[in-house]
Amino acid sequence: MISDDLHVLYFGKRIYCREGGKALKEAVTLRGLQQYIKQTDHHPDRKHHYFYKLIEETGELSEVLRKNRRLKDTGTIKGTIEEELYDVLYYVAALANVYDIDLEQCFALKEEINKRKWKKE
Ligand SMILES: [Mg+2]
Repeated sequence: MISDDLHVLYFGKRIYCREGGKALKEAVTLRGLQQYIKQTDHHPDRKHHYFYKLIEETGELSEVLRKNRRLKDTGTIKGTIEEELYDVLYYVAALANVYDIDLEQCFALKEEINKRKWKKE
C-alpha cells in the first residue's frame, strides 16, 4: 500500500520525499526537475552513459507497457509504467543538463511548431 503523504523517488538511489516537501516542490516543473537532478547527478563526462541508460529505460518501459503493469494495481511503483516513465524522464533531464539545455524552453519552442503542424488550436 502506498501512503498518501509519502512519495518514493528514485534518483540513482532511493530518496523519500514528503509531498509538499522542499525537494519534491522544486521538482514539479521541468526546470525544477532538471535543477534537482543536476544537484545530485551531473557528470558531463558520462553523457554516453546517460544516453545508454535512456535507451535501457526505454526498453524497460516497452516491457511494462506490454504487460500493462500499473502502480494502482500492484501497490508498488517497482516494475510499473509509472516507474519506467520516471526513469526515462530522469535520463532525458540528465542528458539535457549535460548539454545545458532548458527543456521548458525546448517544449515551448517545439509546441509552437507542433501547434501549426497539427493544427492544435
Ligand atoms: Mg527502469
